[in-house]
Amino acid sequence: MLDTLILAGQVVVPESKGRALRGTEMNELKIIDNGAVGIKDGVIAFIGTAEEAESLQAKETIDAADKLLSPGLVDPHTHLVFGGSREHELALKQQGVPYLEILAQGGGIHSTVKATRETSEEALYEKGLFHLNRCLTYGVTTMEAKSGYGLDKETELKQLRVAKKLNETHPIDLVSTFLGAHAIPENYKGRPDAFLEEMLSMLSVISKEGLAEFVDIFCETGVFTVEQSKVFLQKAKTAGFGVKIHADEIDPLGGTEMACEIGAVSADHLVGASRGGVRMLGESDTIAVLLPGTTFYLGKDQFAPARDMITSGAAVALSTDFNPGSSPTENLQFIMNLAALKLKMTPEEIWNAVTVNAAYAIGRGDVAGSLEEGRKADLVLWDVPNYKYVPYHYGVNHVHKVWKKGKLVVGKGDVHANYTLSK
Ligand SMILES: [Zn+2]
Repeated sequence: MLDTLILAGQVVVPESKGRALRGTEMNELKIIDNGAVGIKDGVIAFIGTAEEAESLQAKETIDAADKLLSPGLVDPHTHLVFGGSREHELALKQQGVPYLEILAQGGGIHSTVKATRETSEEALYEKGLFHLNRCLTYGVTTMEAKSGYGLDKETELKQLRVAKKLNETHPIDLVSTFLGAHAIPENYKGRPDAFLEEMLSMLSVISKEGLAEFVDIFCETGVFTVEQSKVFLQKAKTAGFGVKIHADEIDPLGGTEMACEIGAVSADHLVGASRGGVRMLGESDTIAVLLPGTTFYLGKDQFAPARDMITSGAAVALSTDFNPGSSPTENLQFIMNLAALKLKMTPEEIWNAVTVNAAYAIGRGDVAGSLEEGRKADLVLWDVPNYKYVPYHYGVNHVHKVWKKGKLVVGKGDVHANYTLSK
C-alpha cells in the first residue's frame, strides 16, 4: 500500500548517468504522458504511467491530470546567509555611478560585509529562514549556500554555522561552501596573499566542525588572480574539500581553464570564458554553473556562451546566484526563462540544468535532481500543462505543491506551518 499516488498529465524524469549530463545528452529528457508517481515511507516507490498504476493501492491519490510533476529543483550557487539589503544602490546604478565608485563610498559588497558582521547569529538565521522558505515555494528542495560576507574568521564561521542550523531545521537540504576569499577586506588592502593565508588557516576548524564541503574563491580583475586562486584551491583540495570558483565573470582571465586543470567540481559565471576555456570544459568533468540572472540584473548584453559550451560537450547547470548585490532573487523559475531567452537553451537542456546537473555541481547527484525508484521523494507539482511551459511563461511562480522526502511541505504557494518538524 502506497502512502501517496500522484497522477499527472506529464511527469518529467531527468535521468542520471551516474554523472552530470554532457553536450547533446543534455537535450535528452524522458517525459511520461499521463504519468504516475507513488510514494511510500518518504521514498519514490513507483514511476510509470497512470494505466500501469491502476492496480496499485494508495492511502491518498492526487489526481492532477492537468498538471506537471517533476523532481524538486536544485539551486547550486547561492549566497543565502547575509545581513541587510542594498535597494538604495539601485538609484545610483540608474544614474550610471560605476560599481567601483559605489564601493568607494562604502557600498557594494563592503556594505553587506558590515551588515553581516553587525547582525547576530539568531537574526541571520531568521533572515535565512525567510529566504529559504521562499526558495521552497518556488520548487527548490536542495541548494548550495556560500559564506563570504564576513571576510574575517568570526563572521565567516557565524555564516557557516547559520547555514548548518538552517540545514538541520528546514526541509531544503543545504550544501555549504566556504567563500572566505570573496573579496579583500579593508584591513588587508594590498596584501591579498596574507588574507588568503588567514582564510586557509580556518580550514581545519571548518573541517572539524563539518561546516562546509566546498571551498570557493572569487577570481576576477582587482580581486584574486588566477595564480593566487590556483594555489588557494589546491591547498583546500589537499585539506579534503571539493573546490569551486567564481571565474571569468567579467574578463577572460583564464579561471575556466585553471578550474578544469585542477579538477574543480564546478566553475561558475563564465560570461567571459575564452574559446580555449570552453573547449577545456568540454573535455573535463568540471561543471559550468551559469548565472544569467546576474548578467540580467547587472544590465549587461553579453551572456555566458551556453550554446558553445554544450556544443563542446560540457555539462551545464543553472542557478540564481541569489545575493543582495548582483542577483536579489530566489526565483529559479525566472532563471529558466532567462536560459531560454538569453542562453538559447532548449527546454530539455534547461530542465536537466536545474535538476541532474545542478545536483552533481554540489556533490548531490546520487540523491537529488533525478527521479528514480528508491530515492527520497523530493517532488514538485506544477500548475502548467507541460514541461515546455515553465521556461515560457515568465516571472511568476508556477508551483502548486512541493513534497520533501515524501512529506507535503508547500501547498498552493504557502509553506506549511509544520515544516520545521519535517526533518
Ligand atoms: Zn556568486
